[in-house]
This record gives sequence, structure tokens and C-alpha cells, in this order.
Amino acid sequence: MICSNINTIKKTITETALRCGRDPSEITLVAVSKRMDTAKIQEAFQCGQRCFGENFVQEAREKIENLDPSIAWHFIGHLQSNKAMQAARLFTMIETVDRLKIARALNKYAAEHGKYLDILVQVNVGLENQKSGIKPEDGEKFMKDLTPLNNLKIKGLMTMPPYSPDPEKSRPHFRALKQIAAEFQQKGFFADNTSAVLSMGMTSDYIVAIEEGATLVRVGTGIFGKRT
Ligand SMILES: *Cc1c(COP(=O)(O)O)cnc(C)c1O
Repeated sequence: MICSNINTIKKTITETALRCGRDPSEITLVAVSKRMDTAKIQEAFQCGQRCFGENFVQEAREKIENLDPSIAWHFIGHLQSNKAMQAARLFTMIETVDRLKIARALNKYAAEHGKYLDILVQVNVGLENQKSGIKPEDGEKFMKDLTPLNNLKIKGLMTMPPYSPDPEKSRPHFRALKQIAAEFQQKGFFADNTSAVLSMGMTSDYIVAIEEGATLVRVGTGIFGKRT
């Protein structure tokens, strides 16, 4: 089941990209495995899936330490500052950087270990009060504050629009994120100045996200089924 779900989603990603005149290879599927056990992740791995997303450091640690080291792990949850060091050690990319305190802790860990850590800045494009992410209006200042943190590689932006069963409701938010990324790119805020990573789209709206330029789509339920 997991394998056929992955294949179906990959096929949809390819078809959507081609329909939009995009290169399918620039879109990465992140399998969101929160609350799924290692056996399920292993099943996805055997099907060729190499990138997984987790929301909790503690929960992810056991999985990361027990599964194949070739897996790329993306942290997509809300990061607490007391977990930042551990997250920097375990994860390939932290997608949800939205506070300077967290960024500094991640940078400190990376610097102390002589490595570079890939991050995305999370933007609250929907301006929901309860949601993580910087406000678009604070974006430029935040990016400037991150500049001296030399061991962080700021690859792009991530967002999670307000939940709606109608994927079209997400479209303006995805479009807004892409617009912000284009501005930041022009200002030279990203590590790789030719292509900003845009992490947007989940099970319900990843097709719309690809139409709007997503390069990472984070799909959980569509791969593993409903979380209990
Ligand atoms: C849980 C989660 C997802 C996956 O959601 P699905 O609707 O199950 O695809 C994607 N992104 C984030 C940030 C999440 O927390």
C-alpha cells in the first residue's frame, strides 16, 4: 500500500510538473512520517523513498538512529530552543527556522562540529495567530539577522497555509511565498543564489503547490494513511 501510494504521488508530481513546463527532477517528495513506526518508514525506503519529514526531535531520534544513514531527514515541526542542538545533529535540513534564538543555536552546533546545516525560513503567509513562521513584513530584517550565522546555509522558504479542504484556497499563499522568495533572492539572502527551495504543499494541496513553484512537497497521509 505504502509503495503504491508513493508511486502514484510520484507519477502525479511528474505529470503536474510537465503540464506546467517544469522539470520534474527539481521537485522532491518529502514523506512525512510523524507518528509512523520504523517498519512503515522501512517499507517506504524499500520503495526508493530517501527523504522523510519529522515533527518531533525525540520521536525522530530513534528512527534516525535505527534506519539507513543514506536517508535525508527534514525537521518540519515547531523547534524548541532546548532541542535545537539535537536537531542540528540529527537532521539534514531544518525547514522551520523562524526565531533568531533557534538559528543561533543551530549555527553554534554546526560551527562547533565544522559543518554546514541547510535551513529554510518558515513564513506565516496566512498570518494566522497560532501558527509558526515569521510575518512577511518582518522577513527582510530576519534574513539580515541571519547573515552573520556562517554555518547555516539558507536554502529557501517553507510555509503551511491555513488548513482548508479546498486546495484552491492555498494557491494565493503559495504564490505569496514564491513572490517573497524572489525578492529575497534578488537581495542575495539565499546560500545558493540560482534556485531557492520552496517547501509548500501537503497531501491535500501539493498539486496546486507544484503549479505555483514548489520544489519540496511534504506528504504524510497520502503515503502512510491516516494518523491515529
Ligand atoms: C504533518 C505535516 C505535513 C503532512 O501533512 P499531510 O496532510 O498528512 O500530508 C506536512 N507539513 C507539515 C509541517 C506537517 O506538520
